[in-house]
Amino acid sequence: MNQDLFLNGRQVEAGDGGRFDVLDPATGNVLAHVADATEDDAIAAVAAAHAAGPGWAATAPRRRAEILRAAFELMSARAGELAELISLENGKALADAKGEVAYAAEFFRWYAEEAVRADGLLVTAPSGANRIMVTHQPVGVCVLVTPWNFPAAMATRKIGPALAAGCTMVLKPASDTPLTALAIGRVLAEAGVPDGVVNVLPARRSGPVVSAMLHDPRVRKLSFTGSTEVGRVLLKEAADQVVNVSMELGGNAPFLVFADADLEAALDGAMIAKMRNAGEACTAANRFYVAAPIAAEFGKRLAERMSALIVGPGTEPGVEVGPLVNQDAVDKVEALVRGAVEGGAQAIVGGGRPDRPGFYYDPTVLVNVHPDAPILREEIFGPVAPIVTFDDEDEAVRLANDTEFGLVAYLYTGDLARGLRVAERLESGMVGLNRGLVSDPAAPFGGVKQSGIGREGGHEGMLDYLEAKYIAVSWD
Ligand code: NAD
Repeated sequence: MNQDLFLNGRQVEAGDGGRFDVLDPATGNVLAHVADATEDDAIAAVAAAHAAGPGWAATAPRRRAEILRAAFELMSARAGELAELISLENGKALADAKGEVAYAAEFFRWYAEEAVRADGLLVTAPSGANRIMVTHQPVGVCVLVTPWNFPAAMATRKIGPALAAGCTMVLKPASDTPLTALAIGRVLAEAGVPDGVVNVLPARRSGPVVSAMLHDPRVRKLSFTGSTEVGRVLLKEAADQVVNVSMELGGNAPFLVFADADLEAALDGAMIAKMRNAGEACTAANRFYVAAPIAAEFGKRLAERMSALIVGPGTEPGVEVGPLVNQDAVDKVEALVRGAVEGGAQAIVGGGRPDRPGFYYDPTVLVNVHPDAPILREEIFGPVAPIVTFDDEDEAVRLANDTEFGLVAYLYTGDLARGLRVAERLESGMVGLNRGLVSDPAAPFGGVKQSGIGREGGHEGMLDYLEAKYIAVSWD
């Protein structure tokens, strides 16, 4: 199967006719040959977005809202086929893929509702001499760059607020998972998004293609979701034309369980926080810190649950854990587990790869992990739960904050006062308090420290695509 670029409302081949293969992670087989955008294609897409800009910005907010709502309805009606596509190209279990489609579509519904609520301000200046008027205008042409781990939701979480705000855009999806992004492009066109407003450009050579766009003065915004490493590179690139940036970067989420926690609830939360998407989530619990008196019991029961999970091809009925996205991902998990075991940790379940083709890793629980082990410093991005014990609240907070990342943290306690106190002390943009899942289109998602800049979702999400315009006005 061949898939083309989505440029100015049309499916077109890459300028040089190049294509790259998209693989099925469950088998390693080729799923599709996708057009591989060149720098010239990227500039053509920027030109299309720029030409469509004034018309879309002038479109009534109510009309933009209705188009977004139609996109929500279309995505919901096609949830089955979209989930199948995500599962095929990303590998995640179908149940996870269905969850992702519902979550992804919600961004269109939420921003359909927000599109008509861009507010402003009118006050008398403190001097009394004039009025201060603040209104919002769309930032302009946006470049959106997304990762492979949530190929639908990471795209709609940007496209929804950008469309609501009146921006036009070029989406560069991850080259492991461009098929879902292209399908979303078709949904948007069908929903009534005019030509040129949303362009989707798969590209194997992400660096030069994104760089070409960031150096085109018509581009005014970069919204990136991906690793902190690539985020740093793009922040530097964006500096050349002082492009407005939003960055959703890596995480290293701590998961704290205090001795007074409801253990069953904490285990439920741990399974969601760790195993959604087989651990391939920026929000994945990466480090389990458990109060010493309950650590052995928690580890034993977590191991029981992990070993009961059904591993297999994501599209097979009943499968709970699919393959990882590619061989590199498996190699990384393997190296981190090996390093932890060499440092004294024991795998009480898993610890290796199942004997089958495809990019699999067994659900794993590690105990007695050395506090300096690399597995506690780096994103695992796989189905591995390292457990470390702590003695008191201060130590738990210190261990949790001992990272350059600050996306999300989870904590379980039966004492709400302690929960709120610790939540305030945790250096993260989001906290799951007695919850293993925080993602919600109605809430501001994002990180502090090296996990990012800006917020996606909620009311804040649309502000990332708007510029405040201040007008000092006298009418007396
Ligand atoms: P990645 O950084 O390798 O790639 C992300 C995107 O950037 C892809 O589209 C890729 O093609 C592109 N890219 C890579 N190098 C580039 C370059 N030099 N110039 C321009 N574009 C480039 O990340 P990934 O492996 O696709 O995704 C996993 C990472 O994403 C993890 O670190 C995860 O934590 C993070 N993530 C963060 C969030 C969040 O909301 N904070 C959400 C999902 C994933």
